[in-house]
Amino acid sequence: VSVPSAVVETCDAVVVGSRCAGSAAAIALARNGRRVVALDRAKFPSDTLSTHLLFPAGVSELARLGVLERITQLDPPRYREIILAAGGVEVRERMTAVDGIDYGVCVPRPELDHALVSTARGFGVDVRERCSVEEVVWEAGRAAGVRYRDADGQTRTLRAKLVIGADGRRSSVAEMVGANTPYRGSRNERGLAFKYMDDPKVGTEWREIVVQYREGATHGMCFPCPDGRMLVLFMGPAEEIKEFRAGEDKWDRMVAQNPLLARRIEGAANATKLRSTPDTAAYFRASSGPGWALAGDAGHFKDPVIAQGIRDALRFGRLLGEAAAPVLDDPAKLDAALLAAEQRRDRECQATYHWGNRESRALPSSPLVIEALRVFGRTNEPDLMDTFNRVRVPERVIHPLIGARALVRALRRPGADRMALLREAYEETLMDIDVRRERLRGTFRDCRPALSERPDWTWPPAAARKARPVPAETPAAGPAPDAAAVAAVA
Ligand SMILES: Cc1cc2nc3c(=O)[nH]c(=O)nc-3n(C[C@H](O)[C@H](O)[C@H](O)COP(=O)(O)OP(=O)(O)OC[C@H]3O[C@@H](n4cnc5c(N)ncnc54)[C@H](O)[C@@H]3O)c2cc1C
Repeated sequence: VSVPSAVVETCDAVVVGSRCAGSAAAIALARNGRRVVALDRAKFPSDTLSTHLLFPAGVSELARLGVLERITQLDPPRYREIILAAGGVEVRERMTAVDGIDYGVCVPRPELDHALVSTARGFGVDVRERCSVEEVVWEAGRAAGVRYRDADGQTRTLRAKLVIGADGRRSSVAEMVGANTPYRGSRNERGLAFKYMDDPKVGTEWREIVVQYREGATHGMCFPCPDGRMLVLFMGPAEEIKEFRAGEDKWDRMVAQNPLLARRIEGAANATKLRSTPDTAAYFRASSGPGWALAGDAGHFKDPVIAQGIRDALRFGRLLGEAAAPVLDDPAKLDAALLAAEQRRDRECQATYHWGNRESRALPSSPLVIEALRVFGRTNEPDLMDTFNRVRVPERVIHPLIGARALVRALRRPGADRMALLREAYEETLMDIDVRRERLRGTFRDCRPALSERPDWTWPPAAARKARPVPAETPAAGPAPDAAAVAAVA
């Protein structure tokens, strides 16, 4: 039963959540002449649990949205190279420019999200903070607005032609439109534990380099941030997050076990408290229906080990807004545009999603991986970087020829465990074939888990320990997705 609402307003589109995806969608709609209200529970500047590494492809999305000028005012270090090291092999690569931008940045979320919200306001978006959406309003089977509680605790109703849920992984809009249960997903094996510190390398070339040092099953990383700070991050087995949370011991041991990282951050002071999470399952939800759409993490999430979420939330939020703006007044055309935007997101994210699932395996770098890195490490041309930068899909960079060369080299090494190498190469090849076959067949929504996916994932992730595993075949309930839409996507 709906709470009677004292205040009813109308607008063209209401966006729930106003960080990456929400601001991007709202900006695109407003720039195209639409009246947009964006509601967020948060009061900005506001933090959220996320690291925030952006490659040139992500920075170019900030530029397209008109946010880059505000980011530039923060004077963030512009990194132009990445160093990735494992098993004594170092790969150092530059970045391919995207839209003329050849650098990445790592701006903490309070500043990044505040810049997004301020830019949205500059384009005329009515951003309302400390407003919590409690209900989607329906009319003749279509989403027709939302009911929310404002900063003073008053219940208000906003009627709109389009409701966009850009409200993150635990999206309440997804739940209200019946799309809460992802139609496919994969359990993460890695967790994240990170801190900010003063960077002892201020004034050196290290401020322009992002590092990922792999030791055992854990990646140790360091990203330079504005104001002489840096973000230091461990991504290792998710089960180890409770050890990080138990005390400083674990952090200190992980630094000591990673000599390259220890040298990079030696002398760092002024560390913040630890931030951590073991829950980063990847998924796709049905993301469009009559009068509604899900943007950013609300609709799709990839493992953070590949640092793609912000870029994708910005890009597909913007594309969604651009697709919807011209057809908002025609419900049939609007729903078709929302579905097309969803299909485009899925097409563009599919390969990267599988790559993220594979990178989330918490395994020590195998001799095969180390030999592949040796092949990439011969030049500083952007190869691996192009996958992070979305210039080339992962399988065009880490292709069978590289795999074959790495295998031959690994087999030739004295003392090589040939059976283990051949088994690994065989299993990786099967995964490659599976991903390619899925793309060629266009069967992404058929819900058959691919070999890259660990089907024993749970939803919601926070309830993982209590919850029954959700089989990946479980269809989304309620109004999403309708059969014709699924057929069209498949
Ligand atoms: C630990 C971790 C590390 C990550 N590291 C990286 C990285 O290095 N690089 C990268 O690109 N990506 C990274 N990501 C992914 C990235 O954080 C997300 O993809 C990105 O934040 C998605 O933005 P969004 O706008 O969809 O959602 P969010 O940033 O989650 O924003 C959702 C907003 O919705 C609001 N909201 C929720 N419910 C309601 C409601 N009912 N009413 C009103 N408002 C509501 C919330 O207050 C919030 O402000 C990481 C993610 C995690 C978890």
